Amino acid sequence: MDISIVIPLYNEEESLPELTAWIERVVQAHQFSYEIIMIDDGSTDGSWEVLQQLSSRNPNVKGIRFQRNYGKSAALNEGFKAASGEVVITMDADMQDSPDEIPALRNMIIEGKYDIVSGWKKKRYDNAFTKNLPSKLFNAAARRMSKIHLHDFNCGLKAYRKRVVKSIEVYGEMHRYVPVLAKWAGFRKIGEKIVEHRPRKYGVTKFGWSRFVNGFLDLLTIFFMGKFGKRPMHFFGLWGTVFFLFGSLIFIYLTISKFFLLITGMTQRPLFFFAILAMIIGTQLFLAGFLGELISRNSSERNQYLIDGKIGL
Ligand code: UDP
Ligand code: MG
Repeated sequence: MDISIVIPLYNEEESLPELTAWIERVVQAHQFSYEIIMIDDGSTDGSWEVLQQLSSRNPNVKGIRFQRNYGKSAALNEGFKAASGEVVITMDADMQDSPDEIPALRNMIIEGKYDIVSGWKKKRYDNAFTKNLPSKLFNAAARRMSKIHLHDFNCGLKAYRKRVVKSIEVYGEMHRYVPVLAKWAGFRKIGEKIVEHRPRKYGVTKFGWSRFVNGFLDLLTIFFMGKFGKRPMHFFGLWGTVFFLFGSLIFIYLTISKFFLLITGMTQRPLFFFAILAMIIGTQLFLAGFLGELISRNSSERNQYLIDGKIGL
């Protein structure tokens, strides 16, 4: 199969028929063998019924329905599991992404230059103040932390080589950072294509202000996981030691000044409390590091390698 188109959707009943028809037009014009996998993320409107109708008309349209709303990441993850096309393309269901981009995105993957191509909504049709400006800041931070040079991490329109989607797991709210997950899995060839963006035609956006708070927290997680996820002790142990040593040095100084310099009132000095605090924090950090090590030792992913080739085995 040439292409799997994975579409997460939550209460998008009005858009689905139009979107499907448009995708069908594009893929048929290029004679791709394809499937459209729609993941109904627990919609409470008629999305699932619409999906059933679309699927009965065209068996290439496949649907997965969640019992409740699990979020875009979960929907993408499930779609990735089900996808069987050589190139997997994700897009939003609200018709903000144009299916006309599909052939060009596919080509960029097929030509072999890229494992992932991310869309870049260079000209956006969203509210400038609540979305475009924060999104610029956010993308700049994401670029710095991940060292992946994309302008638009959160673009729903992306293309992947099949191998990529089969070797990553999108969880939590990580749909914003799929390229980062892919990079961790060892896929370095990450490209970008300017794509057409359109105003939302039906329905409303599913992410409010919380997107920036959550997006930022997830970014910190990404940064930490990428650096220390497999070796937490190297972070917590280091800082734990620094704090503990710092506290100990102050104590040594206080002891000397009490017994040799005969300065009284040691417990009245701010330094005394500072030393205690530093030692407690240091111990806590150390413990956190040990717990982190235990957790990562028990993780089912501790030894999951993506093997690229073997000789003589
Ligand atoms: N979506 C989803 N589950 C959710 C929230 C959103 O599957 O819990 C889908 C939604 O239906 C749409 C896509 O994710 O297809 C992007 O959502 P939206 O257009 O609301 O985001 P925005 O374009 O405002 O960033
Ligand atoms: Mg949208």
